Amino acid sequence: MEERFNDDHFRVRMVDEVPAKELLTKSNLPFCDYVVNPYLGCPHACAYCYASFMKRFTGCQGEWGSFAYLKVSERDIDVSKLEGRSVFPSSVTDPYNPLEKECRATRRVLERIADVDCKIYISTKSPLVTRDIDLLKRCRDVVVAISLNTLDDGFRRDMDRAGSVGKRLDAMRELHSNGIYTVLFVSPWFPGLTDFRELVDATRDFTDEYWFENLNLRGDYKERILSYIDDRHPELSDLYARIYRKGNGSFWDEAEREFTGYCQSEGIRFVNAFHHSKLVAEKRRGAKPNRC
Ligand code: SF4
Repeated sequence: MEERFNDDHFRVRMVDEVPAKELLTKSNLPFCDYVVNPYLGCPHACAYCYASFMKRFTGCQGEWGSFAYLKVSERDIDVSKLEGRSVFPSSVTDPYNPLEKECRATRRVLERIADVDCKIYISTKSPLVTRDIDLLKRCRDVVVAISLNTLDDGFRRDMDRAGSVGKRLDAMRELHSNGIYTVLFVSPWFPGLTDFRELVDATRDFTDEYWFENLNLRGDYKERILSYIDDRHPELSDLYARIYRKGNGSFWDEAEREFTGYCQSEGIRFVNAFHHSKLVAEKRRGAKPNRC
């Protein structure tokens, strides 16, 4: 086992390889047919990480976010499965987490699928994605989403160890100026802390589309986030208790009305990715995602 430090001097323990049966797997996610996850774990260590449930299956010690492994499969990616379909590298790690700088596993995946007739969705919090602009330009149909839910770098730092707000915005500018279809993924939307209009204003010149996803709290990170709100934003405690303890959905109903009305009146393309579990159920029934 080796000790490494990422860009933010956050200690990451890593073994060079863990075996994986297959890197390409079918997905229930609403917007894609397949996923590829070249890493196990994610050093970005977001406090709200929806993928933290994965720890149960890893046998790894330590908190989610404190370890990451490079996955290695004997099997090549079967690109024939991807013809006419969509693929998401990655769903339970950030494809451009700090290990990617050296391991280049996401780059290898892109090299393998760049010439395939499929739609590729990439979502990341890291400016490292700009390293692969040459490959992204080669892909037939690629969307790069930069995930950002605030312009306040203090709040951002409280929540994750990924790229700063400024670096993510710079990455979006660079992608967009290179002709890559660029999305601002406003995710997760934190009630009272995420200001979608401010984000749209700051990014409109270099953003093709917006995706909005609300904050879901479940599992062991629910109490962590609620404690953080009580501690750092006590003025929002009642609102969070209403939403996450009493299950009152009126805040989200209003937020959906607001961003839908705003984007429609401004002619902004957007995807409503609120209520993830509902979208998964709709996909199972064969419904199309709500894209405007
Ligand atoms: S970047 Fe994504 S996968 Fe990584 S810790 Fe954050 S939410 Fe989880």
